Parts: sequence; structure tokens; C-alpha cells
Amino acid sequence: MDPLTISLVRSSFKSIRPIPEGEDYFARSFYAILFATHPETRQHFPAAMDTQRDRLMRAISYVIDQLETPESVLPLLAQLGRDHRKYGVTEEHYTAVGEALVAALALAGPELWTDETDHAWRLTIALIASIMTEAANSDEGPPTHVGRVIEHRRVLDDLAIVRLELDHTMSYEPGQYVSVQVPSRPRMWRYLSLATPPTADRVVEFHVRRVSGGWVSPAIVGESQIGDAWLIGSPLGSLGLWREPRRSRLMIGEGTGIAPLRAQLMDTAQLDGNPRTHLFVGGTYPCDLYDLDMLWALTRTNPRLTVIAVTEYSDNPWWVTGTSHTSGGVHDPLTGQISRVVAEYADWTDHDIEVVGSPSMVQTTKYRLMAAGVDTCNIRHDPLY
Ligand SMILES: Cc1cc2nc3c(=O)[nH]c(=O)nc-3n(C[C@H](O)[C@H](O)[C@H](O)COP(=O)(O)OP(=O)(O)OC[C@H]3O[C@@H](n4cnc5c(N)ncnc54)[C@H](O)[C@@H]3O)c2cc1C
Repeated sequence: MDPLTISLVRSSFKSIRPIPEGEDYFARSFYAILFATHPETRQHFPAAMDTQRDRLMRAISYVIDQLETPESVLPLLAQLGRDHRKYGVTEEHYTAVGEALVAALALAGPELWTDETDHAWRLTIALIASIMTEAANSDEGPPTHVGRVIEHRRVLDDLAIVRLELDHTMSYEPGQYVSVQVPSRPRMWRYLSLATPPTADRVVEFHVRRVSGGWVSPAIVGESQIGDAWLIGSPLGSLGLWREPRRSRLMIGEGTGIAPLRAQLMDTAQLDGNPRTHLFVGGTYPCDLYDLDMLWALTRTNPRLTVIAVTEYSDNPWWVTGTSHTSGGVHDPLTGQISRVVAEYADWTDHDIEVVGSPSMVQTTKYRLMAAGVDTCNIRHDPLY
């Protein structure tokens, strides 16, 4: 894209930000125009639109900030296009969204809205739509799979492991995530990482932590029933696609962040010639390390894998009774914040690194590793929101 178009798009979008309630006004107008002109699109969105509006603003801000470096935004747009297949999106919908965006932008920042700005936005939207449709069209599998819950295990008070049998084989790379919709929360899609590699019996596994006040995760952890039918979108994300397959690896996972990492390790457990891999697995208390037995088992078949547990506190809280998940492990957990422990543990400058966890954990770990000399290109993580 040429610099003038980028500057027109950016300045007009930034002009709606400083106004109190400006972003919300823009996002509200956008959805109001879209639903008024194309009422059939309303069915794809949840009843409460707050999160949706927030996501829209984040996505537009991110894309606009990256317009000079298309290589950083192309994968995200391609992924969005593939993800939107679950809604049955057609070219007509892209046109409708584009028209609603232009109309809402013109309403939110009328003082900067000129013919040139209008043209610049239409060019940008057309480019984005073409990248998304091309990616969607190149995806071969069905837009959604149906998975039936066959097992629901509450391994912690706030964490459940859910296994589902899919209607069709889903081809995915270990390390990827999918968007899921559960029957009790229609139209509220959430991303979950696949915790196991593809299997011939079409069984997939998710590890889900209950987020207090959340809409979907409490329902999955507390209310999932055997036989529930979940809708599952296209596999997304590029964890597991290592740039140099033989280079030493560092994997860092906190909480359910262990899911995409264990899927990769399970996939290569039986192979010879695995790269040297350190896996740091973190939790607040020792009792949070719900998957350690499985990880220790992987170290027995893969001698080049080292698993290091890290917890913020060395002891369980007083209200936890019974055995700790660390019993029988290779070593006791190290204590401290996982980002600090990892960064101080060794020199990781010659490793390829994956970090999975909450957005704040991923950011802190990334900064600590970079401060310790690691090149940012060597650190990968999923989108944070
Ligand atoms: C690429 C990706 C992969 C993911 N994989 C998994 C996974 O394997 N297992 C899993 O359990 N979750 C995973 N998540 C998070 C998941 O998608 C949901 O965001 C999470 O379950 C909360 O959904 P909710 O509907 O309960 O909360 P919402 O209703 O969406 O949010 C309610 C409130 O909680 C806040 N919130 C949302 N998530 C968190 C959080 N993690 N910690 C603290 N506050 C939060 C929101 O900002 C909001 O204020 C993943 C997210 C991404 C982006």
C-alpha cells in the first residue's frame, strides 16, 4: 500500500480515538448499520455485544498499525478469513461489512472524512477482504466439525479436561487452536488449544480453566454433559511449525497453556532424533500442576526432553487437601515467577522458543527473555486475545 493511503487511513481512524466514548460510538454505529442493512448477519453475533465491539476495535487498530509491514499482518488476516468460514461468510457479507465500516467511520470522524479518505478506506478494505477470502477459499476441510463430549474430567476445582469425538477427521498440526461453540452458550465462540495430536479415532481433547465472571469457560468446566454437541471451527495458529526442526527448543506453558505444547511433544514422543527440548510448566501452587504425570511419562520415551515445574508458591494453600500432582515427579518444582525462573535458568539465545499462557504471562516472559539477549524472532506465541 502506498504511504498516502496508509496515512489517510491511519489519521482518520486515530481521529475517532480521543473523543470520550469515541471508539464505542464507532463500533456501535458499525454494528447498527450492518444489522440494519443486512439483518441476516445479526444471527452470527451474541446477544451481548460488548466483547465483540472490543474485539473489532482491537483488530482494526492492530491491522492499521501494521500496514507498512504487511508480512506481519498477512498471517493474521488469512487466519481471520479461515476462521470466518464457521459463519458461512460469503463475498456479499464482506461487501456489507466494508460498506458499514466506511459509513461508521464517516459518522465517527466527520471532520477528516474527505473523498480521498473514503477512497483510501475502500482500497484498504478491498485488500483485506481479498486476503481473507483467498485464505478461506484455500482451506480444504469443512467450515465446522461437530464434536460430541465423551469425557469430562474435573482435574482441579476450576479446570476440566474435556474429550470429544469428531464427526469427521480434522487435519491439524499439533500446537494449533480452534474456535469452539458449546450448546449452552450459542454464538459465543471461544478459542481453545487442542491438547492432543490428531488420532485415527477422531478424538480431540481440550483443557479449560474457568475464568471468574466469564460467559463460556464456567459453562464448560461446570456444566458440560456427556453427549453435548460442540461446533468446532478451522484449526488456526502456527505454534508447532518450527523454523529449524533440529534446533534446540524452549517451551514455556502456564496453566492450560500446557495444552498446545504437550500436543506437540506427544506427537513426536516415539520419534528418534527429536531436538533437545526444555519444557517449563508453571502454576500458582504445586497442586495446579495437573498434567505433570503425563509430562514425566513423555520424558521417559524422549530422553532429549527435560521438564521443569515452576510454581509461584512452594506449598499448597491450606484449603487444599489430598495428594499433590507433583508427587512421584522427577524433581520438586522451582519456586518463583515463571518468566524470571526461565530467563535466569540458562542462556536461551540459541533456542527456538514457544510461550503459552495468559496475555500478561506471555508478554512478561517475552520481555524477560529479550532482556536476557534472546532475539524476538526466536520467540513465538499465539495471538493474545
Ligand atoms: C489462541 C487462544 C487459545 C486459547 N486456548 C485456551 C485453552 O486451551 N484453554 C482455556 O481455558 N482457555 C483458552 N483460551 C482463552 C479462551 O479463549 C477464553 O478467553 C477464556 O476461556 C475465557 O472465556 P469466557 O467466555 O469464560 O470469558 P469472557 O466472557 O470472554 O470474559 C469475561 C471477562 O474475563 C476476562 N478474561 C478472559 N479470559 C481471561 C483469562 N484467561 N484470564 C483472566 N481474565 C480473562 C475478559 O477480559 C472479561 O473481562 C485461549 C485464547 C486464545 C486467544
